Amino acid sequence: MHCLECTTTDTRREAAAVCSACGAAACPTHTHELRTEVWSQSIGNPTVRVVRRLHCSECARLEAHRAPTPSPTIG
Ligand SMILES: [Zn+2]
Ligand SMILES: [Zn+2]
Repeated sequence: MHCLECTTTDTRREAAAVCSACGAAACPTHTHELRTEVWSQSIGNPTVRVVRRLHCSECARLEAHRAPTPSPTIG
């Protein structure tokens, strides 16, 4: 599989990751690592855990423009 971003610039690079948001394949240059906090709620013991997400350039850009909303999600 080839990097989607690279194909828009006449470059062909082997993909190293798949974007967790849109599913596009991305090469190491176009892969952006984001760390997000995920809340897991157990009775009397709410814990936050940091998870790694891999995004393509486009989704990383969209994510950066999104206002950070620290809303706890259960599950
Ligand atoms: Zn690329
Ligand atoms: Zn994406």
